[in-house]
Amino acid sequence: MIPAIRGTHDILPGDVERWQRVEATARRVFERYGYAELRTPIIEREELFAKGTGETTDIVQKEMYAFTDKGGERITLRPEATPSLVRAFVEHSLEQHMAVPKLYLMGPMFRYERPQKGRYRQFHQLDVEVFGVADPAIDAEVIDLAWTLMTDLGIRDIDLVVNSVGCPACRPAFAEALVKALGDDRAVLCQDCQRRAETNPLRIFDCKVPADQAVIDALPHSVDYLCESCRTHFQAVERYLGLYGIPYRVSHRLVRGLDYYTRTTFEILAGNVGAQNAILGGGRYDGLVKQLGGPDRVGIGFAAGIERLVLAMPPADDAARRPLFVAAMGEAARDSALVLLRELRQNGLEAHMEYEGRSIKSQMKRADRLRAVFALILGEDEIAQGVVTVKDMKTGEQVRVPRADIAEFSRARMARQE
Ligand code: AMP
Repeated sequence: MIPAIRGTHDILPGDVERWQRVEATARRVFERYGYAELRTPIIEREELFAKGTGETTDIVQKEMYAFTDKGGERITLRPEATPSLVRAFVEHSLEQHMAVPKLYLMGPMFRYERPQKGRYRQFHQLDVEVFGVADPAIDAEVIDLAWTLMTDLGIRDIDLVVNSVGCPACRPAFAEALVKALGDDRAVLCQDCQRRAETNPLRIFDCKVPADQAVIDALPHSVDYLCESCRTHFQAVERYLGLYGIPYRVSHRLVRGLDYYTRTTFEILAGNVGAQNAILGGGRYDGLVKQLGGPDRVGIGFAAGIERLVLAMPPADDAARRPLFVAAMGEAARDSALVLLRELRQNGLEAHMEYEGRSIKSQMKRADRLRAVFALILGEDEIAQGVVTVKDMKTGEQVRVPRADIAEFSRARMARQE
């Protein structure tokens, strides 16, 4: 047996129904808020993420599935969706075709991380992005969309955390304040943090090393270093969240691991999805579109991990599928049974039949295993009389229904089941 690659998973029948529920719910919610679906290729140029996600990020430095293709081009499997959507937005001049470019994407992402519960090498994201709207009302709308997605999926016991990481005008002063506040403590932090203190001090907040936490908790907060316009923006976002009655808390540690974030950042955390408790994360990225060669347009969005949503979701209460079963008594009835089976399917009903021509008893056993609601039995006698015997699989009760009425009869009975 050749097993699946570490960190990847088959999504089996029985589990896939939860995935379908997430996807269908997300589509409904996204469309209510005015988003259109866009599908991008899974492979992109490596430089899209080097420039977009950022050279100094863990994703680009350590986690990309990048390779040289047969034509000598540097290609990567996409590790996240935002740069791809920005690329598509720019490449197709979407702002000329859409009143407000609001886009969503669903699909697999790839990161070479250490697999554990809730963390995989191929995982799946739901991603939304809005371009060209600077007003803080859109920040609150995007956060509300994330919140509504959770509510509609039935996910409770979650925490919404928000923060503002400022903009290129005010962030340097904050970064400087961080380094200053660290002072001599810098030497006791982990190797990664020491590197971060050099390259991007805000990243220190991402550190998970237990011994570092006391020092990190005592560091200054970005919200205290915002410039006037970033402060006004963040106050407005908070005010709208208050108006909508969405519970949240400000976490000064929420800087997010990517380079492109400006101003608003947010995450939704859930308790029951393992050590990886962030189920959704996003924020504003006002310089990214320009940085990737597009017009100077602001942007904001989020990504949610489908695996983590599926883990956080309550068990389904929807009843399992209940099909119909067609049974043939004797070889002579087989053709008629096959035609009946097809007719039921043409009428939108799920129907099964046993092809191996076993006894009626073993056919009924199969019908039970399939949890059939009723069996439609055809033998020589039924065919001669132009009827079908309908057996209720629960009560065992049998009735005879004219062959011509059987599709309509079945449809009506199945509708009552639902
Ligand atoms: P990020 O793109 O890192 O901000 O992640 C956004 C969301 O994607 C997270 O909140 C997770 O739900 C999900 N996610 C990120 N990385 C992984 C992974 N390796 N395995 C499973 N889900 C992930």
